[in-house]
Amino acid sequence: MTRLTRREFLRTSGRSAGLGLLAAAGVAGCAPALKGDFAPKTGRRVVVIGGGWGGATAAKYVRLGDPSIEVVLLEPNRRFVSCPFSNLVLSGVRSIDSLTFGYGGLRGHGVRILHASASAVEPDARRVRVGEGYLQYDRLIVSPGVEFQWEQVDGLAAARDRVLHAWKAGPQTVDLARQLEAMPDGGVFVLTVPPVAYRCPPGPYERACQVAFYLKTKKPRSKLLVLDANANVVSKAGLFRAAWKDYPNLEYRASNKVVKVDPSTREVTTELGDRVKYDVVNLIPPQRAGTIAVQADLVGADKRWCEVNHLTYESAKHANVHVVGDSTIGLPVPKSGNIANAMGKICAVAVVHLLNGKEPPPMAPGNTCYSWVNDREAIAVVNAYKVEGGKVVQIEQKLTPGQSAEWAQNAVGWATGIWQDILG
Ligand SMILES: Cc1cc2nc3c(=O)[nH]c(=O)nc-3n(C[C@H](O)[C@H](O)[C@H](O)COP(=O)(O)OP(=O)(O)OC[C@H]3O[C@@H](n4cnc5c(N)ncnc54)[C@H](O)[C@@H]3O)c2cc1C
Repeated sequence: MTRLTRREFLRTSGRSAGLGLLAAAGVAGCAPALKGDFAPKTGRRVVVIGGGWGGATAAKYVRLGDPSIEVVLLEPNRRFVSCPFSNLVLSGVRSIDSLTFGYGGLRGHGVRILHASASAVEPDARRVRVGEGYLQYDRLIVSPGVEFQWEQVDGLAAARDRVLHAWKAGPQTVDLARQLEAMPDGGVFVLTVPPVAYRCPPGPYERACQVAFYLKTKKPRSKLLVLDANANVVSKAGLFRAAWKDYPNLEYRASNKVVKVDPSTREVTTELGDRVKYDVVNLIPPQRAGTIAVQADLVGADKRWCEVNHLTYESAKHANVHVVGDSTIGLPVPKSGNIANAMGKICAVAVVHLLNGKEPPPMAPGNTCYSWVNDREAIAVVNAYKVEGGKVVQIEQKLTPGQSAEWAQNAVGWATGIWQDILG
């Protein structure tokens, strides 16, 4: 059952709307059910779905832009776990705790956080359903990340608990690290890469580096086999291929889309019909926009990703509903945390302008993406964009000349800064 947390709401309940929330939701009781209009709107309100990279940023920046606007953030998880740097948990270089943060900073900005899932969006009525109740909004920002297309790999839906993706940082990341640790020396670790578009284009190849590094140092007789659905390494290809020269234990097979998994025989099958045995498998499934975005009819003709206005991130399908982060498509930008953070800020500025009857300024996102190739060196790509004719277009892309410890230091600086920007 959906539960309001009394302490969290009390912390942000200085204004009458917050008190209304508490009273209407019956927070004084132990297990309040959310029914009807459980938090009647008293002023302008923005509801944000999803407290990840895009949503948490947007929630904070709406409050920073205009503290008279009430912001309610819906996020089922009580802690934010960063996907960036989570591949380092597999190699033992970082702990999951070092990537886990609370939402106290957002509360400090007056964001009201309800640890619950949005179950539906009703754009015509401008409300979001939560449990048996609903929240009204003036503007809605949706940032639910990705959902997996389980049905695209035969046998995967039934084996979800054992065949791990670890593509949403958290318990699965820790479990996959344990499976790797428990694998006998001489074993085969199979990592599968889904077809584009998926969350974090370089992520699987960074993961390959971390697993290969771990095996090289801890289980030297073991092997990593990367089965890639794509025709080539999708991002930073030359840099990753150069890094892999240090890993003779890594075998990379392009155009090897995995279509079936059978945990009883520990085998995956590729589209080509090849059957590959594994000791540990990390199957990253094909992806689409988060379920709520699909249910709310925000996805385009491909039924996977959401089309948005490039200046405001307002949905191409529903007015007053904005979409940011990995759920979007239509921009020449990758599905990255850096971009989700940038979109969250630009969208927040647009929403504040629109709610104040002003025209939003054109703002382009930027992207810097680091990938760790061992325990102390990283590579990076930087993308610059501009807004032209109402669309975001790429100006240039620059890659680091090679891998280095300096880039790894920059990566730590980037992560520390952006976590603070989102949640601090
Ligand atoms: C292994 C890995 C490494 C990565 N490394 C990098 C990197 O180095 N640099 C980089 O820039 N990016 C990286 N990324 C990508 C980055 O994590 C994502 O692009 C980013 O998280 C996208 O932000 P988002 O807000 O769209 O989704 P998320 O951050 O996933 O947030 C979505 C949130 O929505 C919530 N939610 C979903 N449905 C509902 C609902 N119905 N109601 C309420 N809440 C809901 C979820 O609980 C979740 O908290 C990496 C990703 C992975 C997997």
